[in-house]
Amino acid sequence: MRERNGATAIVIGAGIAGLVTARVLSEHVDRVTVLERDRLPQDAVTRRSVPQGRHAHVLLATGQQLLAGWFPGLIDELVRAGAVPLDAKDLVWHQAGAHRIRSDLGFLTMSMSRPLLECTVRERLLRQRSNVSVTDETAVDRLILEGGRVAGVRTDGTEHRADLVVDCTGRNTRFLDQLARAGFPAPEVSTIRIDTAYGTRTVRRRPDDLDGTLALVVDDPARGHRVGMMVPVEGGRWIVTVGSLHGDVPPTESAEYEDFARSLPSPAIADVLARAEALTPVLSHRMPTSRRRRVERLERTPPGFLVLGDAICSLNPLHWQGMSAAALQARALGRAVERHGPASPALARDFYRRAARVVDVPWRIAAGADFADPRTSGSKPPGTGLVNRYLDKVFLACHTSVPVARQTLRVQNLLARPQSLMTPAMVIRVLLAARRSPARVETPAGPAVRRRPVA
Ligand SMILES: Cc1cc2nc3c(=O)[nH]c(=O)nc-3n(C[C@H](O)[C@H](O)[C@H](O)COP(=O)(O)OP(=O)(O)OC[C@H]3O[C@@H](n4cnc5c(N)ncnc54)[C@H](O)[C@@H]3O)c2cc1C
Repeated sequence: MRERNGATAIVIGAGIAGLVTARVLSEHVDRVTVLERDRLPQDAVTRRSVPQGRHAHVLLATGQQLLAGWFPGLIDELVRAGAVPLDAKDLVWHQAGAHRIRSDLGFLTMSMSRPLLECTVRERLLRQRSNVSVTDETAVDRLILEGGRVAGVRTDGTEHRADLVVDCTGRNTRFLDQLARAGFPAPEVSTIRIDTAYGTRTVRRRPDDLDGTLALVVDDPARGHRVGMMVPVEGGRWIVTVGSLHGDVPPTESAEYEDFARSLPSPAIADVLARAEALTPVLSHRMPTSRRRRVERLERTPPGFLVLGDAICSLNPLHWQGMSAAALQARALGRAVERHGPASPALARDFYRRAARVVDVPWRIAAGADFADPRTSGSKPPGTGLVNRYLDKVFLACHTSVPVARQTLRVQNLLARPQSLMTPAMVIRVLLAARRSPARVETPAGPAVRRRPVA
C-alpha cells in the first residue's frame, strides 16, 4: 500500500455513493470528511434528498457483495433490523407473458427499505473507520480552486481544505458547471429519454400474500413497459411500486391506483392491494432521462477533484442498478488511488477510465431494455435492436430453462457480463427453451399474452 503522508479527502454528499467512497478512501488517506446538506436521521426514515427512500428498490447482488466486504457484519445487522433475506426461489417474476422458472438460482439477497440500508451503512462506516467523519446540515457552496487544482470546498463562508475532493452529490451536481466557468472543459453528456414514472404505496404484509412468496416483479419490456414490484421490508411491510415510461403516470388516488395495478400482465399486485391495509398514501416520482456524463473523454480536469456515483451515471431506476454501479465505481477508485495516490494529477484520468468500464455494462443493459420501447429516444448504443431481438428469446427461455434463468439473473445482478448469454452453447439453449415457453402457446382468442396497447 502507498504511504498516506498525512493526506486528507473530502467527500461531498452522504448518499450511498458518498458512503462507499469514504469507506474506500479511508484506506488511502489519513482523514476523510463527508459533508452532507441534509439533516441525517438517526433512524431508518426517509430524508428529503433521497427520493429512492420512498419507493420499492433492490440492492443487486454485486452491490451487496461489495458492501458486505467493506463492512463486516453488515448483513447480519440488517437482518437483525428486519431486512428480509431473499433466495432466488422466493422471487416470482412475471415477464414476457409467463413466470420465470423458479429454482435455486444460486444466490441470496436482502430486501429492506433504502433508509434502513443507508442508516446502517453510515453507522457502520463511522464505527468501523475511525478516520472518517460525517457532518450533516452542511451544504457545499463551491470548490476552492488554487493554482489550477482543487484545494478544498467552501460551505457557508467556511473553508475546508483537502488533497482530494470527491463529488458524490448525485445526478444534478453543480460542481462541474463551476469548473466549466473556470475554464475546464465540460463533459459530453449522453441522455436517453424515458420519462419514468413511479407510484408507490406501503402496505401491511400478510403471511398469505403472494401465496407465501417474498417478492414479485411484473415486467413486460417488449409490451409497453407497464411494470410493478412488491418487495418485503422491515416492520412487516410491503413496498409496492407500479410504474411506466413516457408519461404513463400511475394515479395517486387509491381506486385509480389499483386500476393501474390491475392493468399489469399479472393480477397479483392488484389482488394484494385490494385487501391490504394501506400505511401511506400513493407517492409519485418521475425521472425524465437516464444520463451519463462522459468524464472519461475529458481532455483536462483539475487535480484534486473527481465525481462519482449518479453524478457520472444516473440510470433508469426500473433496472435497480444505481447503488451497485456506485459501489463498482468506488472499488475502481480504490484501485486508481492505490496506483497514483490521492493528490496525483494522473488520478482523474485513470479513475474515469476505470469508472467508464464499470458503468458501461449497467448503462447498456438499461439502455437496451429502455429502447425495447419504441418511444424511447436518445443515445442508443450500437447493436441495441439486434440484441433486443435476441433478448426477447432469452426472456421466453427463462420460463422453462433453469440455466438460462440463472445466467440472466446473474447478468441482471451485474455478476456476469451480458456476453455470457451469447456464447454458442447458450444461444442453442436459449433458442430451444424459448420454443417451449408457455407464452408462445396460442389460444383461440390470440396469443396467450395479454397485450396492453402502447399509448
Ligand atoms: C425512485 C428511485 C428508485 C431507485 N431504485 C433503485 C434501486 O432499486 N436499486 C438501486 O441500486 N438504485 C436505485 N436508485 C438509484 C440510487 O438511488 C442511486 O443510484 C444511488 O443512491 C447513488 O446515488 P448517489 O449517492 O450518487 O446520489 P444521491 O443518492 O442523489 O445522493 C447525493 C447526496 O448528496 C447530497 N448533496 C447534494 N448536494 C450537496 C451539496 N451541495 N453539499 C452537500 N451535500 C449535497 C444530497 O443531499 C444526497 O444526500 C433509485 C433512484 C430513485 C430516484
